[in-house]
Amino acid sequence: MSVLELARPEIRAMQPYSSARMEASGGQVLLNANESAWAPTGDDGLGCNRYPEPQPAALVDTLAALYGVRREQLLVGRGSDEAIDLLVRAFCRAGADAILIQPPTFGMYAVCARVQDADVIEVALADDFTLDVDAVLAAVTPAVKLVFVCTPNNPSGQRVPRTSIERLLQALAGRALLVVDEAYVEFADEGSVVDLLDRYEHLAVLRTLSKAWALAGARIGCLLAHAEVITLLRRIMPPYPLPLPCVAAALAAFSATGQDEARRHIASVRAQRERMRAALSALPGVCAVLPSQANFLAVRFQHAGAVQQKLLAAGIVVRDVRRYPNLADALRITIGTPQENARVLAVLQEPSP
Ligand SMILES: *Cc1c(COP(=O)(O)O)cnc(C)c1O
Repeated sequence: MSVLELARPEIRAMQPYSSARMEASGGQVLLNANESAWAPTGDDGLGCNRYPEPQPAALVDTLAALYGVRREQLLVGRGSDEAIDLLVRAFCRAGADAILIQPPTFGMYAVCARVQDADVIEVALADDFTLDVDAVLAAVTPAVKLVFVCTPNNPSGQRVPRTSIERLLQALAGRALLVVDEAYVEFADEGSVVDLLDRYEHLAVLRTLSKAWALAGARIGCLLAHAEVITLLRRIMPPYPLPLPCVAAALAAFSATGQDEARRHIASVRAQRERMRAALSALPGVCAVLPSQANFLAVRFQHAGAVQQKLLAAGIVVRDVRRYPNLADALRITIGTPQENARVLAVLQEPSP
C-alpha cells in the first residue's frame, strides 16, 4: 500500500490552488500576479514587490544537501510548527482520526490535533523518560494516523534510541505515519534517522533552523518525507509561505562563515551544557538535573516556584515546566552564552533571604 492511503481522501482528491508564481516560467515582464512594478523604499535589491518562490530553489537545494535528502523529499515552511499543522490536517479527519504522543513532550502536536478535532492518544514516557515501544504500539488503534516521537525530547532532553525508532517503523508500516521531531538533533551525540527515509515511506522527519541555526526569528523549518507526502502537503499549504527577507537570512546563515559560526556555537552549547549540569547538580536545593542531549536542561528543585521567582527578580527568565506530567518540580533552563550561564549559577548560589 502507498503511504498516501493513510491520508484524508478529500485532500488527495482536491484540486489545489495554482498561484501566478507557480505558473510563471522564465518571463522578464511580469504582468501576471497584480504585483507592483516598483520595489518598495529600502528594498535594496531584494525584490519584495514580487511574490516569493513557493519553495525557494536555492534554499531547498541547500537544505537538501545539509540534511542528505533529495529535493523532492523536502518541504520548507514557517517553522516545523507549520509542518506539524499540515501533517495533522492532511492525515486526520476531524472527529474521526487521532494522533499519538508521549507526554511530557512538545505541546504543538496536541494543539494542532485539537484545532483539527482529532483525538490525542497519550502514552506517557516511563519515569526515567525513556519511550516504551511496546506500550506505544499497544495504544495504536486504527484511528491513529500519526505517531509523533520527539528526540531529543522537549522538555525532558533525552534521546529516543535509533533501535526504538526502527522498531516503531517496522510495526507501523501500512498503519500510521511516524513523525520524528529532531528539532535538537544538532546538539546530540547520535545523529539523525533521516537515512531511514528511503527504507520506510511512512517516516517523516522534522528539522528546524530555529535552534542550532540561530534563526528562530526567520521562522523556517522543514519536513523530510517521502516525495508523495511532500506533494500532498503542498496541496494544502498557503501559496507563498516564505517571506523573501527570511529566505535571505537563512541563505546567509548557510554561507561558509555562517556554518563555521553555527558549529562553534553548537560546540559551546554542548560543553556549557555539561558544565551547567555538573554545577547545578552540586547546588543546595537542586534535587536532580536530567541528562540532556539538547540545548537546555530540565532541573528538579526542592522549591521550583521560589527559584523561578528568584531568577526572575535577577532578570533571568526560565521556563516553568511544572504542568507537565512527571516534572511537577522542574524548570527548563536554556543554555545561553557562558556569561549568561554564569549569571544563572551566581544567582542560584546566593543565599535566600
Ligand atoms: C522548538 C521546537 C520546534 C521548532 O519549532 P519551529 O516552528 O521550527 O520554530 C519543533 N519541535 C520541538 C520539539 C521544539 O522544541
